[in-house]
Amino acid sequence: MSEGHPRYDVVIGLEVHAQLCTESKLFSPAPVAYGEPANHCVHPICLGLPGVLPVLNARAVEFAILAGLATHCTVQLHSVFARKNYFYPDLPKGYQISQYEEPICTEGWIDVVVEPGAAPRRIRLTRIHMEEDAGKLIHEAGAAGSDGTRVDLNRAGVPLLEIVSEPDLRSPSEAAAYLRTLRGILRYIGVSDADLEKGHFRCDANVSLKPRGTAELGTRTELKNLNSFRFVEEAISAEIARQAELHDEGTPVQQATMAYDPHTSRTRVLRLKENADDYRYFPDPDLVPLAISAEQIETARASLPELADAKCARFQSQYALTAQDAEQLTESRPLADYFEAAVAAYGLAKPVANWLLRDVLQALGELELGIEAARLAPESLAALIRLVDAGSTNAKSARGLVKELVANGGDPAALVHERGLEALSDSGELEAAVEAVLGEHPDDAEKFRAGEKKVLNFLMGQVMRRTAGKADPKAVRELLARKLGA
Ligand code: ADP
Ligand code: MG
Repeated sequence: MSEGHPRYDVVIGLEVHAQLCTESKLFSPAPVAYGEPANHCVHPICLGLPGVLPVLNARAVEFAILAGLATHCTVQLHSVFARKNYFYPDLPKGYQISQYEEPICTEGWIDVVVEPGAAPRRIRLTRIHMEEDAGKLIHEAGAAGSDGTRVDLNRAGVPLLEIVSEPDLRSPSEAAAYLRTLRGILRYIGVSDADLEKGHFRCDANVSLKPRGTAELGTRTELKNLNSFRFVEEAISAEIARQAELHDEGTPVQQATMAYDPHTSRTRVLRLKENADDYRYFPDPDLVPLAISAEQIETARASLPELADAKCARFQSQYALTAQDAEQLTESRPLADYFEAAVAAYGLAKPVANWLLRDVLQALGELELGIEAARLAPESLAALIRLVDAGSTNAKSARGLVKELVANGGDPAALVHERGLEALSDSGELEAAVEAVLGEHPDDAEKFRAGEKKVLNFLMGQVMRRTAGKADPKAVRELLARKLGA
């Protein structure tokens, strides 16, 4: 775990850009798509062609309200879209439509559990506002073989939420835990897939140090575009080390935008922020202020699903799970739903938690699939565990089938039969195997009868080997003990 600093208080505030999973863009009917050919998902509105007028996506507003409610923000009945003016080749309009002085959501918080089972830390949110994304510049060799930069505007106008935290985070690991929690919330409420690899969940980290216990915040730097949780932790740690050195020397930290280089594990200055950026914000004259009714907010509130922390607490009390199991099971809604469906089918929670967290998750990991893609239905997992309970197959054989069932589905009992993995517990074959082993090892049988009880393990091993591991260990033990007259 990456911690703070022994001599300085670490202060971190995060700005997250999360892409909303709407079908169309924030102000135009162009589709929001991923991996499409460049410049195929565009429309005159998101290109800012003359004479067009933006039309606000109602779904994006609903999503922003849900995000605000799920993070305990105040949803503002009145908010304003502003133009943030700057020039860049991926921004054809010459301005980005964002919210500035009057964002849609203000003053919220989320509870962040940094270590399983530990008390949560409440991290305040300053605001959540809506804005459109810019396009992408692609730096690569051009068609003619010359170095060049191309512009792809598929992303231009895609709806984003910018979620800004107060400077409440105190260590790199807390920052990463905050991001995981926030991503979980956005996914639970279904407003963003928050996929880091696709750039749908991006983070800028503001970092400063101050001498231990002092009140005044130090000068901060901003680490841009951290696109994995690991890089967030690494980059902040590197920046803490860099700033601590400056503080130690008495050199002032300069306010700057920084980049993190994972190859050198160091941060470097991209540009100094001597003057605040002047974006000449002003309310967009093409868009009326956004009015939200109290009724709209209540409708959204009523549609909020149970969130991860509530679910986690319920799993612990309702199913008597450990905090760690409950946290893992509630990390994603599909996993939590799968668990509850399997418990409903099986009847007991703990065995389901064990099979799911150990075997099913391992199989999914190996297959690089999410739980949504598992072909093993929750009812089939329950059926598989019951086969083991009934002694129809043993646990080892059943565990060996999980990956195949997850990948291909099918009926567990049929698969056990097909593979010849039925336990030998209730067949004459097991008895024959036990007798054969006792016949081959009369000395050991004698030793056992003379009181050397640990010989039983050796004999058991022999029976298991003879039956190619298909025997139910419990049945073997019982049968051996019976035959030995124990
Ligand atoms: P900007 O628009 O320049 O990014 P904001 O006021 O919106 O500035 O702040 C951005 C982020 O910086 C917020 O998450 C805030 O919590 C954080 N922040 C502000 N001051 C500090 C500081 N001294 N140290 C660390 N983080 C800070
Ligand atoms: Mg910023």
